[in-house]
Amino acid sequence: MLTVEEALQKILSEVSILETESVPIMDSLGQVLAEDIVSGINVPPLDNSAMDGYAVRAQDTKGAGEKTPKVLKVIDTVIAGSISKKEVTAGTAIRIMTGAPIPKGADSVIQFEKTDEEKRKQAAPDEPVTQVGIFEEIEAGDSIRLAGEDVAKGSTILKQGVTIRPAEIGVMASIGRDKVKVIRRPIVAVLSTGNELVEMGKPLPEGKIYNSNSYSIASLVKKYGGIPKMLGIALDNEKSLVGKLKEAQDADMLLTTGGVSMGDYDMVKDILARDGEMVFWKVRVKPGKPLAFGKIKGKSKDGKAKVIPHLGLPGNATSCMVSFELFVRPALLKMMGKKKLEKPSVPAIIQDNIKNDAGRRIYDRAITEKQDGHYIARLTGPQGSGILTSMALANSFVLIPEETEKVKKGDTVQALMLDWNEEVNI
Ligand code: AMP
Ligand code: MG
Repeated sequence: MLTVEEALQKILSEVSILETESVPIMDSLGQVLAEDIVSGINVPPLDNSAMDGYAVRAQDTKGAGEKTPKVLKVIDTVIAGSISKKEVTAGTAIRIMTGAPIPKGADSVIQFEKTDEEKRKQAAPDEPVTQVGIFEEIEAGDSIRLAGEDVAKGSTILKQGVTIRPAEIGVMASIGRDKVKVIRRPIVAVLSTGNELVEMGKPLPEGKIYNSNSYSIASLVKKYGGIPKMLGIALDNEKSLVGKLKEAQDADMLLTTGGVSMGDYDMVKDILARDGEMVFWKVRVKPGKPLAFGKIKGKSKDGKAKVIPHLGLPGNATSCMVSFELFVRPALLKMMGKKKLEKPSVPAIIQDNIKNDAGRRIYDRAITEKQDGHYIARLTGPQGSGILTSMALANSFVLIPEETEKVKKGDTVQALMLDWNEEVNI
């Protein structure tokens, strides 16, 4: 049986980075940038005020103090988005709002709080302020944001290969970019197999269960940036299965659940081996041993033959999610052009005793949290591979190595954090 690393290596060697596409920036969140972004403008475009206050000549504030205010004549008011037609000359000032361009002649801005404007307004509420007393000396350049100080015209602001996060989208918007070239998202066909399955929203006949795998797996596909293509349910017979597999033809990856164990009706692996190519079956892991990986024949949109990686995930509701995190997620990330494929993990002190009599690597579901400066992990109740609520309660997997027969409460284990943000660009 393959180890987790060997199995993952085989999967990764069969998937490659997808082509690029041009998308509106608002659709690019989480995708990998496929071009350098060079700015055609300065941001900000003009020198502008960092404060609400008065644009002045710094030399006119020399000697100013609370008791010795320098009184200047107020000749205009300028707001963000407008340009004053007036020029600040000796002894004058222009009222200015944050973001408004600095008027000609001014070299600095003094904020309202450091003037007597408020006092004057209180004394004569209905009259415009025609004069203002300055309480403080300032220097040329004070409270001025320089043109190009954020982005200089002609500079490369984002490099090919970074993952697009909200800040990258903001930076592109700040230079007026509306579209961007990115690695496209993989389309992942999701098919559940089993005669026992019924779709939600319908009554549940005796002996049947609701299909949950399609939805947990499709949501994982979305979570990691792919586009799920829901193929529904295939029955455990050749006709139904082969028919459904045809619908996966144009996908970039096929995920099935169930039908890969030793039961009489576990046909997925047999049909994969017969109609496609089986690369491996079974991994030394718990849960998730009966994982099957292979390739099936597909067709791209232009009618060309292609090969689609097929991961036959186990049917048990928890097993298929664990298998997804361990094997599908890194494959999807590679297809999307990401470089960092490992899940974030931390050492944690386990609060339970765990036995490993299977000689496989265990990924138990746990809550891992910080306490007194270190991480502790507790299991989320019974760990049966069909107990999906153990997943819903968890924020992590704790890893028990293959050779470790037991861990005791107080031992340190590695905890893989399920929901930590993985987008690291630095
Ligand atoms: P299998 O590997 O097909 O024998 O499935 C193993 C277990 O997982 C069985 O108890 C199934 O009923 C259950 N199972 C299979 N597919 C699903 C599904 N789509 N949703 C929920 N449980 C499932
Ligand atoms: Mg089945």
